[in-house]
Amino acid sequence: MVLINTHYQNLAGSYLFAEIAKRLNAFVRDNPDKKLIRLGIGDVTSPLPPCVIKALRRAVDEQATAEGFRGYGPEQGYAFLREAVLEDAFAGLGLASDEIFISDGAKSDVGNFQEIFHADCAVAITDPVYPVYADSNIMAGRRLIYLPCVSENNFIPELPATRPDLIYLCLPNNPTGTVLTAAQLKLWVDYARAEDCIIFFDAAYEAYIHSPGIPHSIYEIEGARDVAVEFRSYSKMAGFTGLRCGYVVVPKSVQAVSADGAKISVRSLWMRRQSTKFNGCAYIVQRAAQAAHTAEGKRETRELIAGYMANAKVIRQAFEALGLKVFGGIDAPYVWVKLPAGLDSWKFFDALLQGATIAGTPGAGFGPSGEGYFRLTGFGSRADTLEAAERLRQFKI
Ligand SMILES: *Cc1c(COP(=O)(O)O)cnc(C)c1O
Repeated sequence: MVLINTHYQNLAGSYLFAEIAKRLNAFVRDNPDKKLIRLGIGDVTSPLPPCVIKALRRAVDEQATAEGFRGYGPEQGYAFLREAVLEDAFAGLGLASDEIFISDGAKSDVGNFQEIFHADCAVAITDPVYPVYADSNIMAGRRLIYLPCVSENNFIPELPATRPDLIYLCLPNNPTGTVLTAAQLKLWVDYARAEDCIIFFDAAYEAYIHSPGIPHSIYEIEGARDVAVEFRSYSKMAGFTGLRCGYVVVPKSVQAVSADGAKISVRSLWMRRQSTKFNGCAYIVQRAAQAAHTAEGKRETRELIAGYMANAKVIRQAFEALGLKVFGGIDAPYVWVKLPAGLDSWKFFDALLQGATIAGTPGAGFGPSGEGYFRLTGFGSRADTLEAAERLRQFKI
């Protein structure tokens, strides 16, 4: 028999969303007459913006002509999209379009990027967090350092006591919905520079930032270009969760070291990795992504996001009215509810399901420090969100 990658056995047994689906399916089966409202979803629900659809259609029609047909594209992505990204999202930050790599989404990039580093690298991960950072490194056999983010520290991770090589920061955060100010983020950039670490900055929810003084990109922080790689996605920004497109920014100045001490450009390794294992994001999808950067596209995506954020506000207010402490929901579509002391997040999941026929996500699923919290999202429809708020008025904890 063939030996497996035994690191896979260190992954947490049951995947969070599989367990939730199991419990919800059982509930629906046992309560066929009740209408379940799903506020646990981390997926968008509104249709794609009209200008994205138009660009997609145009690109599809091009494929039907001899002149317009495109086969394999550049592994790094088409220049038209990399240049649109640079101009729209990173103007004035000292970056170049050949430091942008287009992909089929941020999950792949965030999951894959670790593989260009040594298996002995120590990895710091905020807790609770998007499960991909932990799991992709556990699969590679790496050691994790958890940085708790809880109400007691205002969800601001403390610098690690022992030096990590790689640091994952997700801002605005999934699942807590919290952000860091420029001054708070600068502490991390300064630390990475002083300790020779590399920061993986996941900015999947950048477009949801509304508060002033919150950096949209880590490259707004002085010195970040030498130590940080930034991940972005069209999924939550423009509704591309099904269409699939994202990108990673890898500045040429980010360096790591070889076994003999020679400095190596991380960008050149990522280029090598991508050109070996990835054959590019679909041309039609890259044209659709380009449309999201036009004036029309920005107006339409702003509207989309405003709708989700209005839902988040309704959810925030409904849980506050129950006397609970609520975080997030201001610069992110996620509302993070602190449960009364002693109430565990799976028990609350069941209570909310039985008592209000509402589904959310237990905080424990996002890491040990998520216990005692509960995640709700603004991604549901307006009608469902309002009905959920109405039901919560009658709900007793
Ligand atoms: C949704 C999400 C992503 C990425 O999504 P893709 O659809 O793969 O682009 C990345 N990071 C976080 C934290 C997310 O919540």
